[in-house]
Amino acid sequence: MDSRTGQPRSAAPTPSPRDEAAAPPFVHDDPWEMALRQFRAAADRITLAPAVRDVLERPEREFTVHFPVAMDDGSIRVYTGHRVLHSTALGPTKGGLRFSPQVWINEVRALGMWMTWKCALAHLPYGGAKGGVACDPGTLSAHELERLTRRFATELRPMIGARVDIPAPDVGTNAQVMAWFMDTYSMHEGYSVPSVVTGKPLSIGGSAGRQDATGRGVMIAAREAARMRGVPFAGARVVVQGFGNVGATTAALMAAEGCGIAGVSDAFGGVYNPGGLDLDALRRHVAATRRVEGFPGGEAVTNAELLELPCDFLVPAAIEGQITARNAARIKAQIIVEGANGPTTPDADAILEERGIFVVPDILANAGGVVVSYFEWVQDLQAYFWSEAEINAHLTRIMVEGVARVASVAASERVSLRTAALLVAVRRVAAALEERGIYP
Ligand code: NAD
Repeated sequence: MDSRTGQPRSAAPTPSPRDEAAAPPFVHDDPWEMALRQFRAAADRITLAPAVRDVLERPEREFTVHFPVAMDDGSIRVYTGHRVLHSTALGPTKGGLRFSPQVWINEVRALGMWMTWKCALAHLPYGGAKGGVACDPGTLSAHELERLTRRFATELRPMIGARVDIPAPDVGTNAQVMAWFMDTYSMHEGYSVPSVVTGKPLSIGGSAGRQDATGRGVMIAAREAARMRGVPFAGARVVVQGFGNVGATTAALMAAEGCGIAGVSDAFGGVYNPGGLDLDALRRHVAATRRVEGFPGGEAVTNAELLELPCDFLVPAAIEGQITARNAARIKAQIIVEGANGPTTPDADAILEERGIFVVPDILANAGGVVVSYFEWVQDLQAYFWSEAEINAHLTRIMVEGVARVASVAASERVSLRTAALLVAVRRVAAALEERGIYP
């Protein structure tokens, strides 16, 4: 019986179990295949030792859990979650937790590998990880979301810890989810452990500047790319796919630099106004309706149409596999700055490169989030907190230097920024693996 409703609890009425090794039906490009192709292309260029390649082609640890959650109506649903630790060569692992219907094991593997390269590229003392639960958080009540988060945090306890693996927010999760996660972990330990997650609210050890950090980093990467390509930044026309944490912040910060935001979208569709969208009005509309669709200040467009709109900057800031061999020839942007992880497939990369479209890759462009997560972790471990001005100044320096370093490798090795970023990152991780040696 359900203690709250007095009704019998029904068993697992939803959703129908999917083979979690299989791709969700709407996934065309397997992200793990994408990540492996990118890695192998970089490994071939630096003639990586076969043993090192063998190690890095596989995640170190994978953990899949199936766990029940009591719903508000008294029924029980069983959810599937994953946590994948790709590499611990450079330190404890770091990576987001995603709550989305599209979460599946190969997506989590790919996102974990990309985190390894991103942390290495930014000189952070972390390996890469990622996790997620296949669920639709938009259909869950706050109490259901809290129970799901607390149960998943409990299931993950053997894998995580402030010196082991430190989650953060990603698609479908936010500071509140991190607070529940931190509280659950702390209850089991018997004392507060703020450093077990980052992206927390400020009141429990979060960092100033973390909420906007990824979008701020994307804006800085875009500004640096504009300078390198001779594109005037003020007045540039920008299209952003995804209007969540990364997309909405990037749009606001680029607008603050004088760019015009001509198009934005979310999972339900987008709006386009070549004269520039009124972002304050759009934010109010999204707060009221929970979607971009229906905003009266622009013309309705689909996500597919949005990606092909005329613009100077295209910022994919939603999910992976959006710019593919199917639409790359029709992209009109001069510069693509990847706020999302893995938005461009390797086949699309080749087409964009041939067309002279400049791509600032994910592991460089969206590193601002993990950089400030690192600052948050350091502050939590030291119990000593910095000002937002200090955080933003350090973040800006790291982003500007990162773009310059990758651009210089791209120029000297005559490769794209993506390949250059991967070369730097893979070399760094390989060096750590070789110097540590094989245990025992
Ligand atoms: P979020 O949940 O806050 O926002 C995601 C946005 O994408 C929402 O507007 C959602 O409606 C939209 N979206 C989802 N599926 C879509 C689809 N199929 N087509 C179009 N739009 C879709 O998530 P976020 O934290 O902003 O993350 C966005 C991307 O940025 C992800 O790829 C994530 O891995 C990456 N990223 C996030 C951070 C971070 O700090 N949050 C850091 C680095 C990279």
